[in-house]
Amino acid sequence: MATLQHYKCPDCLKSFDSDQRLFYSLLDFSKGKIKACQHCDAKLKFYLTFDFGLGVGKSESIVRDVFLPEKNSKRIWKENNNTVEFFPFLVFLEFNSELSVWLPYWHLVKEPGKTVLKYGQWAPNIDLDIFTELIKKASEKGYFANNSISAL
Ligand SMILES: [Zn+2]
Repeated sequence: MATLQHYKCPDCLKSFDSDQRLFYSLLDFSKGKIKACQHCDAKLKFYLTFDFGLGVGKSESIVRDVFLPEKNSKRIWKENNNTVEFFPFLVFLEFNSELSVWLPYWHLVKEPGKTVLKYGQWAPNIDLDIFTELIKKASEKGYFANNSISAL
């Protein structure tokens, strides 16, 4: 099952389907463009529903924050006559009062005359405490403090 998206109003509790693909919903959210309720004008909460395997099942999470890195040569490059733009998202999710991080990514390929959006499958969704532990372990070995390989 694909990741499903919808919006819910925290005030009047009405739900709304998204009118755009997930990529564009996340992109808007990363820019602080948060939709307003069509009935009461409150800021909507953005929900994603994942259907995990291995007995975990469906989880409806609230999107808390979405980040994208700045555009640079690692994010945009040329391939033949096409321009490829990489969108590695860092998404913070809330599920049952716990936080997790989700790392979905897309490639936007601009070909002459058309633009194709390619979704990277198998994006990890990791409990925040586990993710934090990994970042902490890597930090203790010197990663993040300095981004050059020779410093490690
Ligand atoms: Zn409302």
